[in-house]
Amino acid sequence: MSLSTDAPRPAFPFITIDAAGQPSLIAQKCTACGATYADSERVACGRCGGRADVLESFIPASEGVLHSAVIVRRGFPGVEVPFISAVVDLDGGPTVKGTLRHTAGFEPEHAAPGQRVRVCFDDALGRKDKDGNSYIAHYFEPVSA
Ligand SMILES: [Zn+2]
Repeated sequence: MSLSTDAPRPAFPFITIDAAGQPSLIAQKCTACGATYADSERVACGRCGGRADVLESFIPASEGVLHSAVIVRRGFPGVEVPFISAVVDLDGGPTVKGTLRHTAGFEPEHAAPGQRVRVCFDDALGRKDKDGNSYIAHYFEPVSA
């Protein structure tokens, strides 16, 4: 029996895919202190200690600001380099780590802090689970001015 489906699976627990197959990020916000997390199943707030009953899920903004980035030139076997590992402060939170792509190049000025970026989704580099299901992952792309 195969468990394969036509629908890709989220590569990370903070990605959700709706019934129409549309992916989005999912996050949690603490209603007691306002902290946000790129997570869908926290048991407590890391800032104020509030328990799960004060955490609510929300769909974060699809754009944000590049907080920091690292240009990765040596990768794990099978991982194509260079690529840009980025930390992005989404508008309204949370902060999310991911790959920045479709930049003009791989020099520091192509991944400058403060740059506007948007979240996009794509196949997770052709990776499959043991049943042959593909994964969908999040990426960041520059927002054209
Ligand atoms: Zn809190």
